[in-house]
Amino acid sequence: MGLLAVGTPLQWEDSLQYLEKVKYNGVTQLLRIMKESDKVKNKPFLWGDELEYILIDNKNNKLTVNNDDILIELNTELESECKKNDLVYHPEYGSYMIEATPYFPYSHKDIESYVSPEVNMILRKKFINEKYMDQRDLYLLQMTNYPRLGCKNFIGDYDCSGEYISPAIKNIFSQSLFLPDEITNKHPRFPTLTGNIRKRRNRKVNLQIPMFKDIKTPPFDDTVYGREWFDMDVKFIKEDLTAQGASDDLKSYKLRPNHIYIDAMGFGMGACCLQTTYQAPDLENARYLYDSLMNFTSVLLSISANSPFWKGFVSDWDCRWEVISSMVDCRTGFEENTNIHDNNYGYNLSADNTGLLSSPMKRIKKSRYSKVDVYLGCNKIPKDLSQLNDVEVVLNEEVFDRVTKELNGDENLARHFAHLFIRDPVVIFEENVDDVDDNMDHFENINSTNWQSLRFKIPHKISEGDAPEPGFRVEFRPLEIQLTDFANAAFSFLLNVIVQFMLSPKTNINFYIEMSKDKFHWVEKFKTFDECTSVVNKTCKITVDQIMHNEDSGILTTLVNPQLRALNFIAENETWEDLKNNKDNAKERLYYYLRIISDRSKGVLPTEAKWQRDYVLTHPKYAKDSKVTELISSDLINLTKKVYSYSPESDEEKKWYFKLFGEEIGEYLISHKL
Ligand code: ADP
Ligand code: MG
Ligand code: MG
Ligand code: MG
Ligand code: MG
Ligand code: MG
Repeated sequence: MGLLAVGTPLQWEDSLQYLEKVKYNGVTQLLRIMKESDKVKNKPFLWGDELEYILIDNKNNKLTVNNDDILIELNTELESECKKNDLVYHPEYGSYMIEATPYFPYSHKDIESYVSPEVNMILRKKFINEKYMDQRDLYLLQMTNYPRLGCKNFIGDYDCSGEYISPAIKNIFSQSLFLPDEITNKHPRFPTLTGNIRKRRNRKVNLQIPMFKDIKTPPFDDTVYGREWFDMDVKFIKEDLTAQGASDDLKSYKLRPNHIYIDAMGFGMGACCLQTTYQAPDLENARYLYDSLMNFTSVLLSISANSPFWKGFVSDWDCRWEVISSMVDCRTGFEENTNIHDNNYGYNLSADNTGLLSSPMKRIKKSRYSKVDVYLGCNKIPKDLSQLNDVEVVLNEEVFDRVTKELNGDENLARHFAHLFIRDPVVIFEENVDDVDDNMDHFENINSTNWQSLRFKIPHKISEGDAPEPGFRVEFRPLEIQLTDFANAAFSFLLNVIVQFMLSPKTNINFYIEMSKDKFHWVEKFKTFDECTSVVNKTCKITVDQIMHNEDSGILTTLVNPQLRALNFIAENETWEDLKNNKDNAKERLYYYLRIISDRSKGVLPTEAKWQRDYVLTHPKYAKDSKVTELISSDLINLTKKVYSYSPESDEEKKWYFKLFGEEIGEYLISHKL
């Protein structure tokens, strides 16, 4: 069921007294399951995807924040109809967002079942379109980030037409200069989360994204203005000094030249992703899968890049990852220990050190939204992971000791959880602080707000085999949503094959490299654990093209091909390319799934970020000022609507459609609509 529980989330001041209690109870819940983890076995291979959409007004392509009744209805009156259609709609951070998943996770019997995820993705939108979008003239946009999020007039059904946000608006939770609280989901969890992260930090979230530099790019972010914070019934703190300073003395307040200033959780959490979750047969396999997928996260993220525009500017970044990481960063000034932010402004170290927060405070290198830092280890490798876990991580020592002691000295598992539990619970519901039995709420409070590139999902109930309760799962989280369901299905299929290969007892490949080597370091040659003399693989720095295609460790060549053979989709002497020109329609589609990713990794086809960037930079009205104006943004969105339905009409639309897909894939999609 997609809706969130009703309850009273505590404001940060009121939750301080419960922080340690919730963490303690969370570990109690964790241990209850983990002590019986060996009973969770023979779980079938199941998986599912999550897609997030942006609700816009179809006429003017602006965001809409007043149609959030749709989500409630989908989860009440329409719930059984959704279930019948294998659909669930979930709330997300934005009041303009809807997340959708299949109701039942996928499993595979025949080759057609490998295409059905795409059919389900299409149905998710079709269902909602027929029920709502057509009547209300709305549209569900499949773009990672709304290009003009936070610009003047970016919302259609809410007046933010003044000099950005009018000071009269009680923008309580985020205190953003650019995003009104109305963009945040009304369920009290979300505004509270926003406010509590800001209060824990003792300052607003803050990031400056490099602009794409053109000949008329403004020297500084010219949308930043000094805001007169003043008392109404809420006391605003004069804390946004980076921004206030922008209007009087740029240099001393460190608004960086040619950077885009953003200041609210919505800029990150309001961007959309594609996530996939896989069930492993048991704990051991889940640990191995989690560790093995670690090095795939940044590589596949780069191919899925789809967010080049922030707050109406063309940026120099293509992905949302760093943005969202900063926009939910709850670290205090002390923990962050960074000179990116100016310690003299907005920080209040003494208040952080009152002892109310986990004390003594430690320096923490990364946001709670960040790449995985510790391997879990598994029984295929020696217990001592120090060579592999070579990144310094802070641990919650108490949790480490408790988990180690209770789980027969399993320090590796303890290290993972102890690292997650360095974070405070940011939203506590008053009603259930003391509730430990029969649920995993406190554990999930910490686990599910550690937004890492992979999530290790543990069962909430002990079950074996086909019993419906989920077992140990691994979630792959970095991918950006794609403009078409074809492309979303393509990434999902590729990962599905990789995961099946990893979980196959026959293959047993060692994917481990040092944790510190995360950026496009790749294993030189994939070998089985038996063939390896050291647990640490030899790596090299290679291109994404090589990572996909090289003979000794290419994803397509050494993982996908053997798995396609194991599935009998191709013969022993064939490769993934032989799926093509097949009389079997499903095989042909699988071929094109792999083909588009292969072509993008080679640079033969652009990433969707590159494609969007090229569109804006060559738009006749583009003024070479790095700005995505209302008109350009709307034209781009209109174009993506044609792309989504594979129905380009004008010559201009056709030109951009074929730039995105190439001639062959483009024609295939037009003639093979699902
Ligand atoms: P979250 O937002 O915490 O990741 P969601 O409920 O939104 O959770 O998504 C869970 C995903 O996991 C969905 O894609 C769903 O299909 C999938 N899923 C559900 N049950 C299982 C299972 N037993 N094994 C694998 N995947 C599952
Ligand atoms: Mg979800
Ligand atoms: Mg989501
Ligand atoms: Mg979620
Ligand atoms: Mg998820
Ligand atoms: Mg790193």
